[in-house]
Amino acid sequence: MEKQQYIDRAEHALYKVYNRFPMVFDHGEGVKLYDTDGQEYLDFGAGIAVMGLGYSCDEVKNAVKEQMDKLPHISNLFYNEPAISAGEKLLAVSQMDKVFFTNSGTEAIEGALKIAKRYAYNKGMAPDYEIIAMKHSFHGRSLGALSVTGNDHYQEPFAPLIPNIRFAEFNNLDSVKALFSDKTCAVIMETIQGEGGIYPATEEFIKGVRALCDEHDALLMLDEIQCGMGRSGEMFAWQDYGVKPDVMTTAKALGNGTPVGAFLACGKAATAMVPGDHGTTYGGNPLVCAAANAVLDVFKEKNIVGHVKEVGAYLYEKLEELVAEYDCVIAHRGKGLIQGLEFNSAVGPVVTNALLEQHLVLISAGANIIRFVPPLVIEKADVDEMVVRLKAAIEAVK
Ligand SMILES: *Cc1c(COP(=O)(O)O)cnc(C)c1O
Repeated sequence: MEKQQYIDRAEHALYKVYNRFPMVFDHGEGVKLYDTDGQEYLDFGAGIAVMGLGYSCDEVKNAVKEQMDKLPHISNLFYNEPAISAGEKLLAVSQMDKVFFTNSGTEAIEGALKIAKRYAYNKGMAPDYEIIAMKHSFHGRSLGALSVTGNDHYQEPFAPLIPNIRFAEFNNLDSVKALFSDKTCAVIMETIQGEGGIYPATEEFIKGVRALCDEHDALLMLDEIQCGMGRSGEMFAWQDYGVKPDVMTTAKALGNGTPVGAFLACGKAATAMVPGDHGTTYGGNPLVCAAANAVLDVFKEKNIVGHVKEVGAYLYEKLEELVAEYDCVIAHRGKGLIQGLEFNSAVGPVVTNALLEQHLVLISAGANIIRFVPPLVIEKADVDEMVVRLKAAIEAVK
């Protein structure tokens, strides 16, 4: 079938909440994608930071196939071995005490928010307790997650949302301090802001927020849905800062393409909710947990985190060169394989040219920033190839 026919059918059938690129992908191999015409593309988007192990990870594929034949689903009224093993492995790499598996990132945030609320309730706080979140954050599209997403454009059509959310400036400790009071029950933020433009938290900021939370007996909740699972060059980005959150969320790369996320908690946050407080039909089912298990095994066996450190440093060097070379490239941020290049104008034309002419899949973060979140298994040669194609795209539109 012609590409345009697919697009016409999609626009006819699918709820129109996306402006999509005119591209229909069919299959993937390694770090390459192929469209329905058989054309090959170099993928530096990884399905929005999801396909960490790329498209040819046999360990994950086989685990899912075997589990599908054996038992894809059993409700959470019963125990299942894949969830137990995946849970144990996730606790081992996160230093957390308890894990709850979800179907998505936004649901992991809902769980974290429920822990915060339950924690406040358990302490007997008056119902006007507050949660501090950050401007330019992104935590998901469900109503709770949207409530802590510091983006007026996303929030406005869906107000009223959860009340008593206060927004501070990310990386501005004084702005957090100014909002803190004995009404504060939790702070939620990304360790590295993703959608907001790839802004890593500074060490001073995270440590300062941790101290404020301790001082006021509030929970520090770190959203690692995008920056976690090895992407920052640590298993979880917070592990680079010498502080530990009470609650953290993960998702995106956890299942390498199967829909699975999790919220994790330690200490007092790990026991705030009790049986009956939370649940899910699909969450943590054997199918997705078989995938998460295989993903966590591959991370260990292949030292994916070490690889990200090495290739990430190489990508960093190459992107620094672009800042020096092009006047239109004005800033570069990030670490590991989550990096951003900021332009002096909207990056839409560069991203579109890269895709359609250079067969390079890039995604943006905000209007002026190209976000680099490739599969974690890319090699330096892929970085070199990406840079050649990106330069051609920049030249073509400037
Ligand atoms: C993607 C993302 C989410 C939402 O995850 P979904 O699976 O799309 O619901 C939440 N937080 C961050 C930091 C994200 O990048």
